[in-house]
Amino acid sequence: MRIPKAIQNLIESFERLPGVGPKTAQRLTFYLLHVPQGELDRFSQSVEGLKKGTTICSICMSIDETNPCSICSDPHRDKSTICVVEEPLDVLALEKNGRYKGIYHVLHGRIDPLNNIGPDEIYISQLLTRIRNNELGIMEIILATNPTMEGEATAMFLAKQLKALDSQLRITRIGRGLPVGADIEYADDITLQRAMEGRSEV
Ligand code: ZN
Repeated sequence: MRIPKAIQNLIESFERLPGVGPKTAQRLTFYLLHVPQGELDRFSQSVEGLKKGTTICSICMSIDETNPCSICSDPHRDKSTICVVEEPLDVLALEKNGRYKGIYHVLHGRIDPLNNIGPDEIYISQLLTRIRNNELGIMEIILATNPTMEGEATAMFLAKQLKALDSQLRITRIGRGLPVGADIEYADDITLQRAMEGRSEV
């Protein structure tokens, strides 16, 4: 028996998602066959509206409904401190924690030579431009990339570039306390708090 085209299409779509193998893709697709049509419609509308309803902030590269994003346009945020993170989800984690009052820069990835991701593949040049223009009086850059091998390499690369650009800049790396290999996005509030408070100059 041939798998109907509609089913095959959805299986293939699921397979493109990170962490989803062929078996899971099949299971999800056949599960959805039992879901009422109205619910499926809402699901597909959410997928359809995902990118239409969001935009990338031209200042910090975070994802929001507006450009500039709600953080960059908030007059109460401390514009002298930029926290550099790998993914928009890291911003959410730090905002949920609620203590950080500065602004962000989202790289949308990390330098990862094994997967052919160099400095030009992520938003590094945009960060350097922000420093070069430095209209907002940026004084500190907190390098909050993940404590993985790629995250550390990215932080080291950034520290070097930033120092060369502005020797007055205070460049810090979030402290230990985050388990090695862990993701900021999954860190609990207290760990995240300690990592931010325990940051040190690089
Ligand atoms: Zn922004």
